[in-house]
Amino acid sequence: MGEFELIRRYFCPLAEAGSSSAVLLGPGDDCAIQRVEPGRDLVFSVDTLVEGVHFPRHYDPEKLGWRSLAVAASDLAAMGADPVCFTLALTLPAADPHWLHGYARGLANAARSFGLSLAGGDTTRGPLTLSLQVHGTVPRGLAICRSGARVGDYVCVSGTLGDAGAALNYLDSETPGPDEQSVLDRFHHPTPRLSLGVGLRGHASAAVDISDGLVADLTHILEASGVAARIETAHLPLSAALKRIAGANAVSLALNAGDDYELCITISPEAWVGLPEDIRRQLTIIGEVTFGEGLVIERDGHSQAVVAGGYDHFRTES
Ligand code: ADP
Ligand code: MG
Repeated sequence: MGEFELIRRYFCPLAEAGSSSAVLLGPGDDCAIQRVEPGRDLVFSVDTLVEGVHFPRHYDPEKLGWRSLAVAASDLAAMGADPVCFTLALTLPAADPHWLHGYARGLANAARSFGLSLAGGDTTRGPLTLSLQVHGTVPRGLAICRSGARVGDYVCVSGTLGDAGAALNYLDSETPGPDEQSVLDRFHHPTPRLSLGVGLRGHASAAVDISDGLVADLTHILEASGVAARIETAHLPLSAALKRIAGANAVSLALNAGDDYELCITISPEAWVGLPEDIRRQLTIIGEVTFGEGLVIERDGHSQAVVAGGYDHFRTES
């Protein structure tokens, strides 16, 4: 199977995945064309996944298809962007039809769920590496940035935290129990909070998606905004499954483990009261933004200043 046959067979069908009419020209030409309506800003981001670094060797291709687009789309959610389209730069060791079929199926499911059409890409031979660039739009000036947090804002998170981190212990489990399966689903099938992000436009003061862990990602907001925060561990939203399987370790996973792809936002108390009920229901207040710098975690009446412990590809052990 040649490069162009591979693209035509597995990837061109994904050009129809989204509903946006903004993609004027999809795969097949030298470039794709996206029309950006007057009064809107283009919001875009690229994510690369390398085998053995971001996903295990011999990882199920269908799960990888979903995951690879979900983690990229999560950045659109964090900015409050309406999803439009994506490009896929695929580096493959071989054109293995079994792998391509599974990968394209998982990718197609994700593309349809998130409303992202495939607009183009690049296909090369080499160690398995996936780069996905996602495009979205927001009404002009309304993207939610990391730099907007203000003293007195609430710190909130969506969903539950720590589940995907707990799943790392069970990736090789042959017979996972129901709780183990539930956290494994969170790892294999992350759901970018796209509609929540759109709903938070004009309300949230700052947002970040939680890919590296709450402490690490909230710290990005604090540094970009020039503020500090305190959070209360008793308020962290933990799933029943996580509490059962991780016990006393659940809080630590919720603070430090990555891969949940929930949103962490800041929002003023006035804006919080003005949030539509269906948006507010998806969020839990876990703390507040304060003067100064750094993050203070309150646990059982004790306060602890923390440094970000998220994954950093270039950190050297000392
Ligand atoms: P060029 O050499 O002009 O960069 P390519 O030969 O790399 O173009 O690609 C030909 C067409 O196929 C382009 O429109 C490109 O967007 C599309 N394409 C290549 N790889 C992929 C892929 N993995 N998924 C979707 N479209 C792809
Ligand atoms: Mg060209």
